[in-house]
Amino acid sequence: MENPVRFDIWTVVRPGAAAEAFADSLLLNRNLPEPEARRQVSRSSREGAFVRLAGGVPWSHVLRVRDAPPAWTGELRCYQEGYSPADPPAGYCPEHDLYFGGCLGCHVCTGFFVR
Ligand SMILES: [Zn+2]
Repeated sequence: MENPVRFDIWTVVRPGAAAEAFADSLLLNRNLPEPEARRQVSRSSREGAFVRLAGGVPWSHVLRVRDAPPAWTGELRCYQEGYSPADPPAGYCPEHDLYFGGCLGCHVCTGFFVR
């Protein structure tokens, strides 16, 4: 039996907001070496590349971030954990604005997720 699904949130850093984004403790690229994290944030701010805002979080965390996104964020995208804009899954649920993998449909719709 697989575990209920968790979620990754990806975002784009607004132009000119790289310093603010890097300082924000929400940015979970902290597990990267600092120069690499700075490079990703800077590239996102300049070129609109996506960076991971949160990884492996419950759905309630997704809803909190959507309600009150950090000021430095542009577009937000929510994926089933492990997927990303660079490796997009096949499925998308417009009701939950969620990109998901597998053939069973949206995990929030089916209830198989961490709340
Ligand atoms: Zn759904």
